Amino acid sequence: MAIPTETETPTEGGRDFIRDIIQDDLQAGRVAGVVTRFPPEPNGYLHIGHAKSICLNFGVAQEFGGRCHLRFDDTNPVKEEQEFIDSIQQDVRWLGFDWGVHLYHASDYFEQLYQWAVHLIRAGLAYVDDTAPEAMRAMRGTLTEPGQPSPYRDRTVAENLDLFERMRAGEFPNGARVLRAKIDMASGNMNLRDPVLYRILHAEHPRTGKKWCIYPTYDFAHGQSDAIEAVTHSICTLEFEDHRPLYDWLIEHLPVPARPRQYEFARLNIAYTVLSKRILTQLVSGGTVRGWDDPRMPTLAGMRRRGVPAAALREFVRRVGVARAYSVVDPALLDHCIREHLNAAAPRRMGVLRPLKLVIENWPEGHTEELEAVNNPEDPSAGTRLVRFGRELFVERDDFMENPPNKFYRLSPGREVRLRYGYLVTCRTAVKDASGEVVELRCTYDPATRGGNAPDGRKVQGTIHWVSAADALPAEVRIYNPLFTRPDPGAEGDVMADLNPNSLEVLAGCLVEPALARAATGEAVQFERQGYFCPDPESRPGALVFNRTIGLRDSWAKEQGGKGKPAGKR
Ligand code: ATP
Ligand code: MG
Repeated sequence: MAIPTETETPTEGGRDFIRDIIQDDLQAGRVAGVVTRFPPEPNGYLHIGHAKSICLNFGVAQEFGGRCHLRFDDTNPVKEEQEFIDSIQQDVRWLGFDWGVHLYHASDYFEQLYQWAVHLIRAGLAYVDDTAPEAMRAMRGTLTEPGQPSPYRDRTVAENLDLFERMRAGEFPNGARVLRAKIDMASGNMNLRDPVLYRILHAEHPRTGKKWCIYPTYDFAHGQSDAIEAVTHSICTLEFEDHRPLYDWLIEHLPVPARPRQYEFARLNIAYTVLSKRILTQLVSGGTVRGWDDPRMPTLAGMRRRGVPAAALREFVRRVGVARAYSVVDPALLDHCIREHLNAAAPRRMGVLRPLKLVIENWPEGHTEELEAVNNPEDPSAGTRLVRFGRELFVERDDFMENPPNKFYRLSPGREVRLRYGYLVTCRTAVKDASGEVVELRCTYDPATRGGNAPDGRKVQGTIHWVSAADALPAEVRIYNPLFTRPDPGAEGDVMADLNPNSLEVLAGCLVEPALARAATGEAVQFERQGYFCPDPESRPGALVFNRTIGLRDSWAKEQGGKGKPAGKR
């Protein structure tokens, strides 16, 4: 790859620093059991970065006999939608995890959070600030200069209680006032410079409707929700490290029922991949992709539609490991996990992506034979199936060359190849159309070679796949290439400028063997010699559509590595 990439190798048995901390806490009796949570904000679909967090949170709960909650962090009604809430649940289940009865929402706690805000006001630890947002930002100071106290910082408790109640009652417009914690405007940690706890937002919430027009911030909602649910280890990504002192300050100053602790790990980054929800949202709303589940998207819904098995994602996440050091993972590792899984599990079929007709001149007209084909050489229990062979077949256009180089072991005039599971055939002539394009191969076969071996032991190097003209089914095949051309999309400013114009190739007029009419949506099969493919949800009898899950060899990443070829050219 063009950029340095690194994979964290977890130590023995998938151990990592989070698991070490939990083990120590249990041994020392600091916690009685493990409770974690996965806290998505329902403002988009889950992506592979979330899979890392899901596998970690649900994984440690399973390993240590605890439980993991699914909690929607639904504190911003402006961006949150029911569609996202539904898709998140579907995706976590698909990934193989179950929260049981422990489905929660930050919005379940709005009343309690409000009461705790009142508690802080009474304790002189929170105040209503009327400063306009821009001015407030300017007064926060910088990393080298302390912030300036708001002129409203010393309001009386009574005045604060009154104003906060009226904020809740809807007396003020959006942005007119906020509730802030009263901590330290000179703190070296910007998050402690009187952070905002509540803002006014006249917006309907998917769950609480019009009940509220003030909403808690992430910082005020998160730790307190953890405490209510008795979460023991609140595991999040490193950008929240600087929020931890605030997390602890709130837990310390509120009469919460438990004392959760926050731990941070490095987020997953993958080269050539964008995992920012903001940009993924832009790709969807701008029509760059066909939706959140477009198979090019790094979303779980997109990968599922592309045919990526959940087990391959779990294995990928396991191999990446959990650490605190920044790293960018090579997408070849993900591809490897997908191939490894599909190689073991996917049934083999034959499909011809760019068909070229092949006629066996000495095969009797009207005669057909059923040949036995192995379903999966990696798994004898998968058995065999029958494929029909006849006088007219289709083979891959790429498997013929009129003037081949020496090492080309496939079809060319005078050369003999093996048709998979079938017979040895020798190419005699190539029929061309008026423009000189080869439109048909005329061949002969050796009737003594059924099954693909010559009785005289003569060597035939090449084996190619085929479909029979009489019963092959037409199909559209969609080939997906990386969405971005740079390992670090957006590094030069505009991420949209780094989009790969060839991220989708549609091949019409492909031909597949009849057994593929029964393939299940989203379940990948191997088209022999071509890669792994699965039926798209749009696939219909008579109008089959397959998505390429992944090719057999990682030609794309290799080519990109040294030569800097344009993406999508293979
Ligand atoms: P944003 O907060 O900007 O909308 P987000 O990606 O943080 O986006 P959340 O819904 O808040 O989205 O994420 C839920 C959980 O998933 C959080 O605990 C977050 O830390 C974790 N998470 C998000 N992205 C990654 C990633 N790339 N790697 C690991 N964990 C991630
Ligand atoms: Mg977040």
